[in-house]
Amino acid sequence: MIFADSGSDYASSKYVIHGVLFDGTSSFRTGSRWAPEAIRKASQNYEAYDFDCDRDLSELLVHDMGDTEYGNLNEMVVDLEKTTSRLVEDEKVPITLGGEHSVTFPCVKALAREMELVVVIFDAHLDFREDYLGNEFGHACVARNISDLGIPLIQVGIRSGARDEYKHALDTSVIYTMQQIRREGIKKILKEIGSSVRGRAVYLSIDMDSIDPAFAPGVGNPEPYGLTPLELRTAIRRLAPNVSGFDLVEITPDYDMGMSSMVGAKLVRDFLFAHSSFVTKTTIKEIV
Ligand code: MN
Ligand code: MN
Repeated sequence: MIFADSGSDYASSKYVIHGVLFDGTSSFRTGSRWAPEAIRKASQNYEAYDFDCDRDLSELLVHDMGDTEYGNLNEMVVDLEKTTSRLVEDEKVPITLGGEHSVTFPCVKALAREMELVVVIFDAHLDFREDYLGNEFGHACVARNISDLGIPLIQVGIRSGARDEYKHALDTSVIYTMQQIRREGIKKILKEIGSSVRGRAVYLSIDMDSIDPAFAPGVGNPEPYGLTPLELRTAIRRLAPNVSGFDLVEITPDYDMGMSSMVGAKLVRDFLFAHSSFVTKTTIKEIV
């Protein structure tokens, strides 16, 4: 099964969906390797037409290249960077469906070689650990890995982390906590992020646990008091014009009745519609 209405061939496509079946460093709830298939299934629910953008998904030149399965973290990190680099060299926008959050770092490395990059992560957790279960590339280390490369990093929706993670994160990156979002509103924060990005390329990573577990309970590490799906859609629409790579990670389909995959598939569509509206010069303000 392919993502609904993503029937373009590779050569003519602008966007390439790639499922990464890896959840080897997840500890609390495993099973995010089943997410790409669950997201594709959920995508069949939606009608191709989007009223806000006045476009059919099938018009957007989306190719679904299927899944790659990895049994081993180090193999995944090396191989996924190569695969994503090929997509970037072919001038595609990679849309990576995890899998756990460790899939983000190799994708970021692939893009950072080609362009000046800012990484924006939506996550409940800081993911700033030096190592996790004995490995420096585990899913709880992804933000730390990116920051260690010297790539500017902005994290949004944060509400969990160890004391020393907060210290390192505050020293080296920009954090918008959930408290701050509730106090100031998502739109004000997105405006600030927009001005700090200043025309540079953005890699946008969505850890699904940034959303409140009331809306998306099927994730590896659920954390209450999160974003609404609508706030995240606003963020995706606002940031999409600058985005050169996108991922959506950490859905564990076995832990809910399909609602997290349903929201995930919708957010992927929202990204595609918002990004392509920018490409075809519709002003993004009209649809946020
Ligand atoms: Mn994460
Ligand atoms: Mn998380």
